Amino acid sequence: MNYKQHLDHKIFEIVSKAAAELQLECYVIGGYVRDILLERNHKKDIDIVAVGSGIDLALKVSELIPNNPKVQVFKNYGTAMLRYKDMDIEFVGARKESYNRDSRKPIVENGSLKDDQERRDFTINALAFSLNKTNFGELLDPFNGVVDLKNKIIRTPLDSDITYSDDPLRMLRAIRFATQLHFEIEKESLEAISRNKERIKIISGERIVEEFNKILSTEKPSIGFLLLHQTGLLDLILPELTALNSVEEVEGHTHKNNFYHTLEVVDNICPNTEDVWLRWAALLHDIGKAPTKRFNKKQGWTFHGHEFLGGKMVKRIFERLHMPLNQKLKFVQKMVTMSSRPIVLAQDIVTDSAVRRLVFDAGEDVESLMTLCEADITTKNPKKFSKYHNNFKIVRQKIVEVEERDHVRNFQPPITGEEIMSLFGLQPGREIGTLKEAVKEAILEGEIPNEYEEALAFVIQKAKKMGLQKVD
Ligand code: ATP
Repeated sequence: MNYKQHLDHKIFEIVSKAAAELQLECYVIGGYVRDILLERNHKKDIDIVAVGSGIDLALKVSELIPNNPKVQVFKNYGTAMLRYKDMDIEFVGARKESYNRDSRKPIVENGSLKDDQERRDFTINALAFSLNKTNFGELLDPFNGVVDLKNKIIRTPLDSDITYSDDPLRMLRAIRFATQLHFEIEKESLEAISRNKERIKIISGERIVEEFNKILSTEKPSIGFLLLHQTGLLDLILPELTALNSVEEVEGHTHKNNFYHTLEVVDNICPNTEDVWLRWAALLHDIGKAPTKRFNKKQGWTFHGHEFLGGKMVKRIFERLHMPLNQKLKFVQKMVTMSSRPIVLAQDIVTDSAVRRLVFDAGEDVESLMTLCEADITTKNPKKFSKYHNNFKIVRQKIVEVEERDHVRNFQPPITGEEIMSLFGLQPGREIGTLKEAVKEAILEGEIPNEYEEALAFVIQKAKKMGLQKVD
């Protein structure tokens, strides 16, 4: 079968011409080919493999394009890249790889197309289309990748144990592709991942997180997390999460399995947000529950303070996995720490002041928090399910109303400390804080609106009770 019609982008004609001029063979390979055959929206990057120098080919291609786009050369890797229209095109020379045990960096020698296909992680990623004049558009598929695509199977071209042990990142890639494409990992391969799981220790946090982000960005991340769990990888990467996988019973009281609950929450959140950090928050929102779990006769199972401890654990996880320690961390911590706040509202009568406090504490992130908390409703009791959702609808409405009226989302005290000092002739001291706090409380409680005049009257009255006199 010939796939010429899929290679109608101008760039393939140019690459083909450049290769002919240099008298070398070249092919499109990897994800681009896979996604064409899957009729999946293909990406903006194209990988070209040349039997010879990939760098020379890139330079020649640039020569043939009007305006000669800049070629970025990575000499150490023997690769080069250029942008054409909105495509990133990466060039590499075909190579043969062998590995040392303590590194995922291979020893590289020049090789044939077949050698290059053998070094690829999965049969579905080893597919190549020829760009050579003699057989332009021909599919080169030495490991039956097309059959695997049809059967939705992730399989390694060579021995799975060697493939995963050589570069353990491939274990995460297998699980990530299975999640993205809804494919199954071949039994032998899945067993090899379990056998080689300890090898994940040589992979950097950054790389692990990159794959986790991709899994979290799919429509149903639980597919990936269940595979991570099943193979034992999750225990090595996020033991805080697998610690939630238990159901204990004391005197007939049980609690829900918070691991499976968490995965449901993550899946629930996915259609509703593009934000991978909110997905991280969903993944980590209950991690404080394992270390805080207690049983007492009166209350049964409790997890007192799990949100607060969870917030602290988030920081340790971010540090361990080299995740960004900036506002992303703060955001996830805030979501975890506040994750039970709206639930309390959803179970009760929703008062304005409770909503005002929620908006005050969550600030700009109040909608994200609501999305997380709605996803957190996994009760199988239909009555409770609709009651909670209805209450959340009311909370969302009230958030809008309260915000229009009182603007507490980015609360700025209507009366400043300096004003209080000059009103009562005070030096900096405790009273000022007390008065400011009283104004804030009165606003949040709805005793006064968030307006200057009302706040001024309130402060004067309150100060009087404290024995302070207004100076003229
Ligand atoms: P996506 O862009 O959706 O992640 P992709 O398959 O293009 O998919 P890349 O990471 O861009 O993924 O890799 C391009 C190609 O390089 C892959 O299709 C595969 O052939 C090969 N490859 C990437 N990483 C590895 C690896 N760790 N081991 C072996 N081959 C790999």
